[in-house]
Amino acid sequence: MEDCLFCKIAAGEIPSKKAYEDDEVLAFYDIAPQAPVHVLVIPKKHVSDVYAARGESDAFLAGLLRTAAKVAGELGLVESGFRLVSNCGADARQSVPHLHVHILGGKQLGDRMD
Ligand code: AMP
Repeated sequence: MEDCLFCKIAAGEIPSKKAYEDDEVLAFYDIAPQAPVHVLVIPKKHVSDVYAARGESDAFLAGLLRTAAKVAGELGLVESGFRLVSNCGADARQSVPHLHVHILGGKQLGDRMD
């Protein structure tokens, strides 16, 4: 999608530090990390958020989540643990309207979700 930051990152038009890539999904390091390990997992196809993704196939959503888990494993987070977050809309403070899952880990995270 034109003028979508994460579409441009997926297309290689804007540089990113890649953690994982396949035909469907890209994972890259967050530019403003909120944990020692902070990686974003995005579908290459433009879908604005997890609610919009209800119109996609089960395989699309399952693939994104499966890849997030796989990347967390490759980042060495399984033993210590990690958090997956997908912000949706204004109250969640979603700032980039392209579906993404945050992988957060590398320290004991806060006990609150807000
Ligand atoms: P959200 O607030 O859930 O929409 O998350 C968007 C995330 O994208 C934020 O954590 C930003 O720090 C991150 N971000 C914005 N621009 C870039 C970029 N060019 N490369 C990597 N991460 C980015």
